[in-house]
Amino acid sequence: MRVVSFALLCVLLVSCADRSTTTGDVEPTAQQSFQWKLVTTWPKNFPGLGTAPENFAKNVERMSNGRLKIKVFGAGQLVPAFEVFDAVSQGTAQIGHGASYYWKGKVPASVFYTAVPFGLNAQEMNAWLQYGGGLELWRELYAPFNLIPFAGGNTGVQMAGWFNREINSIADLKGLKMRIPGLGGEVFTRAGGTSINLPGGELYTSMQTGVIDATEWVGPYNDLAFGFHQVAKYYYYPGWQEPGPTLELIINKAAYESLPADLQAIVEVAAAAANQDMLNEYTARNNAALIELVEKHGVQVKKLPDDVLAEFKRLSAEVVEELASEDPLSRRIAESMKAFAIQAKAYHGISEEAYYNARRQ
Ligand code: CA
Repeated sequence: MRVVSFALLCVLLVSCADRSTTTGDVEPTAQQSFQWKLVTTWPKNFPGLGTAPENFAKNVERMSNGRLKIKVFGAGQLVPAFEVFDAVSQGTAQIGHGASYYWKGKVPASVFYTAVPFGLNAQEMNAWLQYGGGLELWRELYAPFNLIPFAGGNTGVQMAGWFNREINSIADLKGLKMRIPGLGGEVFTRAGGTSINLPGGELYTSMQTGVIDATEWVGPYNDLAFGFHQVAKYYYYPGWQEPGPTLELIINKAAYESLPADLQAIVEVAAAAANQDMLNEYTARNNAALIELVEKHGVQVKKLPDDVLAEFKRLSAEVVEELASEDPLSRRIAESMKAFAIQAKAYHGISEEAYYNARRQ
């Protein structure tokens, strides 16, 4: 036993000595272990959005046999929700989980990577990111911030949101203060409303105190957990603003590059698993939550009028075009996404959509 311990000590001393003789570029070895901090924009353990990074961290630890341990912090525990991007960019935390459109003030084109109104659904977003060039452009967009983005979840088509008054025409949006981030928020403002961006944890109180008149969040499963049925009467669909929003895992570039290749692969595969798992969870749990909202809590579920949706769609095209014309990279992202959407729409018109229509009859 003592001999083994001595041998181990020698290995460690040699390895330490090796490291001390070279400054900087040390080749990561399979013996090294790492401890990372993961900051999120969600309340700690919030269903789906908050449990996804927890599961990701557990999977990474399990697959790496404890060589990469990741501690997850909810919004406000280490940094506030809207400081996640900077915290990971600067290395305060090695990894973050959130939604890219929260960073639009810093990186305008980041909004493309959460959702484009009337754009790609979850299945199509994943396809564009992985096989349509979307991820490479996203990495180019975040490179100046020392960040490597990965898709880290998708909720599927969301709901249009909770309103404390009925929406029967565009005129009903006038003066309405709604929490709606990203491109959807810009569209909502142009349609006569006022869009406000707030983190999830502040929405219930903001609705209750009248700071906002309406809010979108995700869908029945998450909205039930926040209790929005207690502070708003009408629950509108469809989620034109977020038809298949991607959540992001952002990793500090230096931290990622300090990992040996096997741990990098584990992080990549765990992110892909988290991305798919979230969609599966929402697809399974939204159904029962919707029934509970309607049958137990008497929520009125309503469809946005066709002319309101048509106006949102018209304004969305305008907003996307303006954003695309801001700089060459924004243009390349918008064009790549648009070209993909045209093809997806053509084929999904005779596959997914045709099947939905046939199933309904
Ligand atoms: Ca949303």
